[in-house]
Amino acid sequence: MQLFGTSGVRRIFDSDLLQLALKIGLAVGKVYSNVVVGSDTRTSGQAMKHAVISGLLAAGSRCQDAGVLPTPTLALAGKDFNAAVMVTASHNPPEYNGIKLLNPDGSAFAASQQKQIEAMVSGDSFPAAPWTEIKSGGTYGGAVNRHIEHIRRQVPSGLRLKIAVDCGCGAASVITPYLLAGLGCEVIALNCYPSGLFPHPVEPVEANLGDLMAIVRSSGADLGIAHDGDADRMMAVDDKGRFVSGDKLLALFARETGAKSVVTTIDASMMIDEMGFDVIRTRVGDNYVSEALKQSGDFGGEPSGSWIFPDNSLCPDGIYAAARLVTIASQQRLSSLLDTMPAYPLLRGSVSSKGIARSQLDDRLMTLRPVSVSNVDGTRLAFEDGWLLVRASGTEPKIRITAEARTEARVRQIYNDGIRAVQNNVSEAR
Ligand code: MG
Repeated sequence: MQLFGTSGVRRIFDSDLLQLALKIGLAVGKVYSNVVVGSDTRTSGQAMKHAVISGLLAAGSRCQDAGVLPTPTLALAGKDFNAAVMVTASHNPPEYNGIKLLNPDGSAFAASQQKQIEAMVSGDSFPAAPWTEIKSGGTYGGAVNRHIEHIRRQVPSGLRLKIAVDCGCGAASVITPYLLAGLGCEVIALNCYPSGLFPHPVEPVEANLGDLMAIVRSSGADLGIAHDGDADRMMAVDDKGRFVSGDKLLALFARETGAKSVVTTIDASMMIDEMGFDVIRTRVGDNYVSEALKQSGDFGGEPSGSWIFPDNSLCPDGIYAAARLVTIASQQRLSSLLDTMPAYPLLRGSVSSKGIARSQLDDRLMTLRPVSVSNVDGTRLAFEDGWLLVRASGTEPKIRITAEARTEARVRQIYNDGIRAVQNNVSEAR
């Protein structure tokens, strides 16, 4: 049984998920003797967290409850423990919940660690500890302040900027506005109170951030910051009220932090390759970026908004990233920095994967005559003037198609070629 996707467990909350939380708590508690637990703001968060704690304690582990906080804030607290358990469904809708398991260095559990927990949960054969070995639980206070102090040691204060912040009522509500105010900024807070009834979908994409863009424009703010539900992600709006693409943020952070070697995912723009960095490409998913950064790389991220500064943590840290971006914007207007970067038209879409035969699809893609092919994740075809990525979604029964090229006409052509290759393949397979 595979419980864990690329970002842990994630499902619509129901009694099955609650029971799973208890079993995961028991399994983690058998392997790790001292664990810290936290949750985001979802309505099911408290119930889920107490199920995890119940399992951990029953297994004989020590356990402390760090309260409602972002994943990167819990990851920092996790340095003092053997493992951390975060109850969150990240950017998914409010009816979802899930569990992320973290190591003391902030990285997500590796595949081997996940398999060990999965096998224990699936086997369902591990007993609770004898009553004499059960420890008492406790609370872990001060995780938020510790994270704020950790960040403030790394960025300058006295940043007199006006910043609009949209936390989507997620976990960042308890930290980002206070951190930025502490750095000297005037903060315009939008949806910065913890609530599991998210006022808009909590994924920080352009379609969900209309209010933030409007407030940046109407208030004359220097930039806007947005997070997902557990604030491992951060996206931005520039001083002209324009949503900043994740590809541009990736390039901006890499350039402004002086990185030489950059780790990013296979679907990120070719812009990063053209800016002179050594680029290492991984599968799609921030845990793969984090894993690669353990070996090498000065900075890593993926265009969906996960930014990993290895000197800070191996957990994507949307709060730290916000502080770094504000620091950059205090030196030069964000819009003028962004406008100096190359940008190419990029198209992303998907079709149903029903009836698709992988090998036939690859044969058909080869007829598009690529210059080179990568199979890091799906099939990525490189052309002289662009590229096409065709890969199966990790979370839905879909084939995702991404294309980028130097001109609008060419990207449309590459994208349509990709769609046609997949759709012809479906009709042949039927
Ligand atoms: Mg997240």
